[in-house]
Amino acid sequence: MHRDLSEQGSKGEVLIVEDTPASLKLLSDLLTEAGYYVRQAPNGELALWTVQSRPPELILLDVRMPGIDGFEVCRRLKSSPATAHVPVIFLSAQHDTDDKVRGFALGGADFIAKPFQAEEILARTDAQVRLGRAQLALAAERAHLELRVHERTAELAELAASLEREVERRRANEDTLRLAARVFAATQDAIVIADAGGTIVATNPAFTDISGYDSSEMVGRHVSTLQTVQHNTSAYHAMMAALAGHGHWSGEMLARRKNGATFPGLLSVSTVAGANGEVENYIVVFMDITERKAEQHMIDFLSYHDALTGLPNRLLARQCFDEAQAAAQRNGQCVGVMCLDLDRFKSVNDSYGAPVGDQALQAVARLLRSCVPDGATVSRQGGDEFQIIVPDDAQLGATVAAAQAILAGLRDGLPLAMAAAEGAAQAAQPSPQLSTQHLGLTTSIGIAVCPADGSTFDELLRNADTALYRAKEVGRDNYAFFTERMDADIRAKLAIQAQLRGAIARGEFEVHYQPQMCLRTGTMLGAEALLRWHNPVLGQVPPNRFIPLAEEYGLISAIGVWVLDTVCAQIAAWQAQGLGTLKVAVNLAGSQFAHDSTVASVEQALRRHGVPPASLGLEITEGTVMGDPDKAVAALGRLKDIGVAISLDDFGTGYSSLAYLKRFPIDVLKIDKSFVDDVTTKASDAAIALSVISLAHNLNMRVIAEGVETREQVEFLAAHGCDEMQGYYFSRPLAAGAYTALLREKRLLNLLPE
Ligand code: C2E
Ligand code: MG
Ligand code: MG
Repeated sequence: MHRDLSEQGSKGEVLIVEDTPASLKLLSDLLTEAGYYVRQAPNGELALWTVQSRPPELILLDVRMPGIDGFEVCRRLKSSPATAHVPVIFLSAQHDTDDKVRGFALGGADFIAKPFQAEEILARTDAQVRLGRAQLALAAERAHLELRVHERTAELAELAASLEREVERRRANEDTLRLAARVFAATQDAIVIADAGGTIVATNPAFTDISGYDSSEMVGRHVSTLQTVQHNTSAYHAMMAALAGHGHWSGEMLARRKNGATFPGLLSVSTVAGANGEVENYIVVFMDITERKAEQHMIDFLSYHDALTGLPNRLLARQCFDEAQAAAQRNGQCVGVMCLDLDRFKSVNDSYGAPVGDQALQAVARLLRSCVPDGATVSRQGGDEFQIIVPDDAQLGATVAAAQAILAGLRDGLPLAMAAAEGAAQAAQPSPQLSTQHLGLTTSIGIAVCPADGSTFDELLRNADTALYRAKEVGRDNYAFFTERMDADIRAKLAIQAQLRGAIARGEFEVHYQPQMCLRTGTMLGAEALLRWHNPVLGQVPPNRFIPLAEEYGLISAIGVWVLDTVCAQIAAWQAQGLGTLKVAVNLAGSQFAHDSTVASVEQALRRHGVPPASLGLEITEGTVMGDPDKAVAALGRLKDIGVAISLDDFGTGYSSLAYLKRFPIDVLKIDKSFVDDVTTKASDAAIALSVISLAHNLNMRVIAEGVETREQVEFLAAHGCDEMQGYYFSRPLAAGAYTALLREKRLLNLLPE
């Protein structure tokens, strides 16, 4: 039974241990009556057993009992923690003082003497139960207090620990702040902190170093002052979008220093958000990457250039070739690819040492660059090998000119700073006596041409290399084309060029005259002057071969002037000999006509020899005047004013633009030999010849047919109204003497049809 239940309504729970049944009953009744809940035990064993299950509030314990006596029971009770607190009142005979001494010593609370006095029993029982209860309450209170104290102590300990943690945290925070401040001040990168509106709130010393602005100058100003990112540019919008998206942006920007100079900066912008997620600050970090850029530039340069000479390397040369080839394809041009190999360069290194060899290579690089036209690429692959890419036309004049200039330039010698005494050992001394010496070198050059010799850079280099070996074989200090025919052509051209230069002075030119016949009268109206060149080396060179080259090499004007002068002198001579009024037609080359001096030199020749202008005709081709039609119209107008007749040569083979034909003051149309050849056998050629005749007549011009060789041609053309003719049928071009004889004899050249 639970104490709370058993005690309900009772004054207390009392165990009475008494071996005398009458006493037990007496005490039990008394206490029950007084309101106690009474338990009973007839001996010590049972008493000890029953208190173990539930200790009472008070034990009335008889001292004298069989078995375990009262003292022993008390001793055991007091020695057990569960029962030590239960007050024990001994029941013993009166006046037994020893019992009392012993009983108190064993922890007894009181004594009740037998025989029992009811009042005494009740009074002592009450007192002990109350005392017991008070002690229990006290103990409970103390326990409660102890618990509270314990709890408070724990709370305080926790508080102390958390305080300590807070202090620690703050200290760490302070350390972090101090560290951040040190980083802010010491970092090499410029840092600018702006508020949400972009107003600068702080800058660090590196910012001042880099930008030149003091912190005090910048704080309070808008970040845009730095002009790193211009407002409202696409870069600015991209940056703001990145910041709004993920709070960070970085990139390269051109920034401006206080002195106005700009520099490349690597910029990184981050946003700092407050508790509510709104941007509170912008942190701008930037670095001056000028040096890094320069390094990058250097790296880029070195990856595309040869370190020793600064020339493009093979990689860049290949790109240049691709570009040149694409352009050439568009314009129907060519690209010359040259491979150069310095002859016996090893001996330069061996005798002067590698530093002088390096100098020589640098000097060669400079020379090569100075010899090639604009747009050409000179590259070095290493060693003493160079490559040159030259955009050129089909004549390859620029390529050949560059090759010749290089050979000549090297032969002249390269100025090098060399130690006074030759030898690498000398040159390496601390203060060598340097003097400029000229190092004579030669090179061999192989040339391949795109598209004739290949379409890829590698193929062309290979072929140019093959040509290079040929150039070396034939004796170095030389160049050779990969295609031997091209080689031969170019060499022949160059031979002509070389001989052409002094040809006038050496008197190698001669003018031949081919009679021109009037079909109506059958008489010789005059002649076409045709230039002949006899050169002791080259023999007889036809004008179709050397005239274009004379134009190319800028020699045509002098030749033209010579022809005009010779022809005018001849006309004057014929007149002086009384051989009649003859008209001689002189051919004008295209580039000659482009010269403003042409009209003047015509006038001069006429004047010098006193020749009437009507005795001179000029033959031009359509190509001659098409280059600059307006200028041509003006020049022809002036010639016509003088009284010189103009013939349009080779008509039908060129543009034959009717619009121009109308504009040009032409007197005579010359039907080209190619139509005359088949005029009697091919309907189309006959039709062309006939339409040229009617066109000329409609435009008030005369018509002359050239290259007439057969009687059938003569008859056909005469029948269809052609005015004049010229050709082998009548006469080949004749030397002046032969022509004079012809005039003198007044010989009929050939019978004209009736
Ligand atoms: P071109 O002005 O058309 O001259 C006519 C050419 O046809 C001449 O050749 C002439 O000899 C040739 N020829 C004339 N009749 C016949 C014929 O019946 N049969 C054949 N097969 N050929 C005939 P050439 O003398 O060789 O001159 C060639 C070209 O050289 C000329 O063509 C002219 O364009 C140019 N040329 C000649 N002399 C001069 C000159 O002094 N100055 C300039 N600028 N060009 C000249
Ligand atoms: Mg002609
Ligand atoms: Mg002609």
